[in-house]
Amino acid sequence: MESDYQRLFIEETSFYNRIVLQTLLPNWIWESLPHFCQTWLRNYISATIVYFLSGFLWCFYIYYLKRNIYLSKDSIPSNKAMLLQMGIVIKAMPWYSAFPTISEYLVENGWTKCFPRASDIGWKSYIFNFAIYLIIVEVGVYWVHRLLHDVKPLYKYLHSIHHVYNKQNTLSPFASLAFHPLDGILQGMPHVVALFIVPIQFSVHILLIFLEAVWTTNIHDCVNLKHWPVMGSGYHTIHHITYKHNYGHFTVWMDWVFGTLLHPKDDYNESEEHEE
Ligand SMILES: [Zn+2]
Ligand SMILES: [Zn+2]
Repeated sequence: MESDYQRLFIEETSFYNRIVLQTLLPNWIWESLPHFCQTWLRNYISATIVYFLSGFLWCFYIYYLKRNIYLSKDSIPSNKAMLLQMGIVIKAMPWYSAFPTISEYLVENGWTKCFPRASDIGWKSYIFNFAIYLIIVEVGVYWVHRLLHDVKPLYKYLHSIHHVYNKQNTLSPFASLAFHPLDGILQGMPHVVALFIVPIQFSVHILLIFLEAVWTTNIHDCVNLKHWPVMGSGYHTIHHITYKHNYGHFTVWMDWVFGTLLHPKDDYNESEEHEE
C-alpha cells in the first residue's frame, strides 16, 4: 500500500518535470539526468519564470499602465535598483530551488503525511487539515521572520540583505525574493514542516508554493490596497520602514495576536514614539 502511494507521488513529480522540461529543453538534455536532478531543474526553471514574469507584468501594470494612479512618480524605483535586486535573486535561485526538490524527495519516499489523491481522505478532514496547514504556515512564517529580526546574528548575516530596501522607491516587485539564500529557505520552511504534522494533498502543497512566489512579488510593490485580513503591500512596506511591525504572511492575524500589527493608515513615527 505504502509503495503504491510512493509510486503515485513519483508519477506526479515526473509529470510536472515533463511538462516544464519537455516544453523548454531538448529531450537529450534532461532525460539522461537522474530524477532528483530533473526535479531540481524543473523547480529552478519554473521559479525563475514565475519570478521574472510576475515581476515584469506587475511592474508594467503599476509603473506604466497605472502610472501616477497607485504610486506617485517619486515612489518608483530606478531601473538600476531593480537590476541589483534581480542580481541577488539570480544568485539565490539555485539554492531556493534545492529546497522544494528536497521536500519533494521526502514526499516521494513516504516520509511526510502528504497524500496523492483528493479521494484518499473525506472532504471534512480535507478542509480541516487544510486549515491546520495554513495556520502552521501563518504561525511558522511569523516566528521565523520575527526571529530573523530579534536574533541579532541572524539579522546581521542573513535578513539585513532584504532590508536594505527601506523606502518606497527602493522597494519593487523584484525585491520580493532578494534574500540571502538561507533566509529565503528558512522562511519557506514552515510549508515543509507542516507536511510532517498534517495530511495535505501533495498537489495543493505545490500550488501553495507557487502562490507564495506570486504573493511575495505582490507585497513588495508598495501599492496600499486594504482587504482585511490580507497582509498586503501597505503592511509589508511598513515592515520595511519600521523593522518591527507586520512580520506576518498572508494575513494580519499573527501580528494582531502577538502585538506587532501596524495598519497602513497610521503614522509610523508617531506610533514608534508611543511605544517608547
Ligand atoms: Zn523582515
Ligand atoms: Zn520584504
